[in-house]
Amino acid sequence: MKKTLVLLLTILLLLDVPVMAQQAAPEIPAPSKHITDGKGYWQTPMDITDTKAVWEMLMSPVTVVKGNQKSQQVLYKEPDSKSEPVGDVTRDSQGLHVLETRDDGWSLVETYSSSFHDSKVKAWNQLVQGWIRTDMLETITPKGKYALLVDKLDQRLYIFEDGELYDVLAISTGLPNERQPYNETRSGEFLLVSPVGGFEVEGLNAAMGLRFNWGDILHEVPHSIRNGNKNYQKYEEVLGERASHGCIRVQRKRTPKGTNMTWVWNTLRKRMDTKLVIWEDLPGRQLAYVDPGTPLFYNPKGGQNYHSAAECYGVKKEFQPMAQFAYSELGTGDYSSLTACPYCVPPRTVAEIDAINLAHKLP
Ligand SMILES: [Zn+2]
Repeated sequence: MKKTLVLLLTILLLLDVPVMAQQAAPEIPAPSKHITDGKGYWQTPMDITDTKAVWEMLMSPVTVVKGNQKSQQVLYKEPDSKSEPVGDVTRDSQGLHVLETRDDGWSLVETYSSSFHDSKVKAWNQLVQGWIRTDMLETITPKGKYALLVDKLDQRLYIFEDGELYDVLAISTGLPNERQPYNETRSGEFLLVSPVGGFEVEGLNAAMGLRFNWGDILHEVPHSIRNGNKNYQKYEEVLGERASHGCIRVQRKRTPKGTNMTWVWNTLRKRMDTKLVIWEDLPGRQLAYVDPGTPLFYNPKGGQNYHSAAECYGVKKEFQPMAQFAYSELGTGDYSSLTACPYCVPPRTVAEIDAINLAHKLP
């Protein structure tokens, strides 16, 4: 018996077949036992390079709880409204994965609980399964042409147009701490439901807010006002890292295509029911390394930044087009002190990717 096992393992090793699957990254959020058919959020691997699958997900219908976009419904542990509440769901905008629909009028669903600071359930961004009355649910087909995808792992906003990736912007999602676990931006799928515009919280001014999950709003990177001037520096410095209280802060500086939060606002504020997907940074998810041959650009006459394009709004016209070099040369020789341009969102350095991956390694 033992001999057979050893022989089998040897054959597997010789064939280079992975003996244990524990290295594989989870691709679907904690797959439930009842995965339903479909091409929605819950069935789609978190792989930004698979444009076709991502677009299908972004265009697939969303099941939400009917009602006011600034209110919530609890999910119950049993198909009984007297049983224990296990999760909070924001009405009108938050997508649910329906696992089972019963004849007695109850449905079993799963989603990331949208517990905010005043929640009694306190399931902070936890993936939960719970029961809800089926007649509370409705299915909405998202508006076409545009869709948004936020990846909490790489802190980027991906903008899709007509089935193609249109542009990428740097963002900051929520940074929780022990006292404020509710700062974590809730993951899952949502619909934009209201162009709330600018608002002020504790001296922070946030312009062009688009509501997608009650208190969680997509808006421009905040600014403070000093002597009548807008100051963005403190918040722009941390774009690309978690920093917010749950909102999604989006870059103000224009990419080479002219995209920024102003573009998102102008393009989407009259397109409510546009889908916004937020990928959870599950343990085991890892960022891919960048092709060493990827072209980067810099201004040899004293430029401090490396860029993803030869022409960039972050550089004076007289220094454009800039000189090209390869990603593999980053951190060496002339390129050793260059830092990432805050306009054109160039790829991260190997050291930065390693740090993110280390933090998300499976234990
Ligand atoms: Zn640039």
